[in-house]
Amino acid sequence: MSERTYLDHNATSPVRPEARAALLDALDATGNGSSVHGEGRATRSTIDTARRRVAALVGADPRGVIFTAGGTEADTLGLTPDYQCGEEALTFDVLLVSAVEHAAVLRGHRFPADRVEVLPVDARGRVLLDALDAALERHAGEGRRALVSVMLANNETGVVQPVAEVARRAHAHGALVHTDAVQVAGRMPVSISDVGVDLMSVSAHKLGGAPGAGALIAADPDLRPAPVFAGGGQERGRRAGSENVPAIAAFGAAAECAAACAEADAMRIHALRERLESALRCEFPELVLLVGDVDRLPNTSCLALPGVPAETVVIALDLAGVAASAGAACSSGKVAASHVLEAMGVPERIARSAIRLSFGWSSGEEDVDRTIGVFRRVVPGLLRRRAAA
Ligand code: PLP
Repeated sequence: MSERTYLDHNATSPVRPEARAALLDALDATGNGSSVHGEGRATRSTIDTARRRVAALVGADPRGVIFTAGGTEADTLGLTPDYQCGEEALTFDVLLVSAVEHAAVLRGHRFPADRVEVLPVDARGRVLLDALDAALERHAGEGRRALVSVMLANNETGVVQPVAEVARRAHAHGALVHTDAVQVAGRMPVSISDVGVDLMSVSAHKLGGAPGAGALIAADPDLRPAPVFAGGGQERGRRAGSENVPAIAAFGAAAECAAACAEADAMRIHALRERLESALRCEFPELVLLVGDVDRLPNTSCLALPGVPAETVVIALDLAGVAASAGAACSSGKVAASHVLEAMGVPERIARSAIRLSFGWSSGEEDVDRTIGVFRRVVPGLLRRRAAA
């Protein structure tokens, strides 16, 4: 297994060399960012540089960036009924989420379960705007203020949501809007003002930073969610606890690299993905492409060999040198039915066979060639086993 092809960037991306260098530099430095001495001020400056870089990645004001331990914490921080905007307290009565959100949104929110409404999606996994309108009108009509959370793109299918339209409709009803941009930031150019949301979650390890850092970014720096942790006044009182400076520094360095090449990388990666998909579909007519003719991330393919369990395919690919994942994988590593594919109405036999191939910044033509070669080696055997079962 000397040569491996890593096609699981939606799970995590390799650390970029620039991020690794920033992480090591920060590890070698001493000083708490809250201390007034020279060492403390140097650490503060490292954090502030990273804050500017992460803000620039999505065209935000650096004062709106709240560093967290990752995307999950950013989602949890943002999805609370209690906000402050300047001196004004804002309270939200209901949370509206799409049915295809990541578990960090579906389960990480701080609303009581009976104040959460799940919005249906169409067969391609896009939130139904009519259902959103109906929910917004009903809640506004009954005097309830809503917080809406719809992801920018899905981690299993790559399908891009109409978030700008969601934000326009939600704002017309006085709602606040959050988007989980964990799979998009650093992969495609993103601007928080173009998307039109109030809050955006991003994660370092999806864009070539180190694990252990993420951010909730508010378009208006005065908008402050109720903190998750009580303690010191770090992050302007919005996230207590001494900062994970090495991971934050690496996040900033990765964000800067990703921003510089997001457009070119998106085109390059899209071409890799297209070449792989067309070769596989041409050679293996049995393969089903779960979402094709829809706006989706340039790096993600969701495929199924109906009737062959996803974990069997993933293991066969792994043994042959390709790291992929089951579209239905959950964080424990066990394969359960995917709530995303279920919400899209994908038949169970296909959903249980869904695998995800996801490219990233370190992927190249050789990964496509090797993956095609590996599919040629493993698919005939998988189909024979399916026929014999
Ligand atoms: N949101 C989405 C869409 C994700 O894909 C993930 C991770 O897979 C998360 C949130 C959680 O991010 P993190 O792993 O940084 O906690």
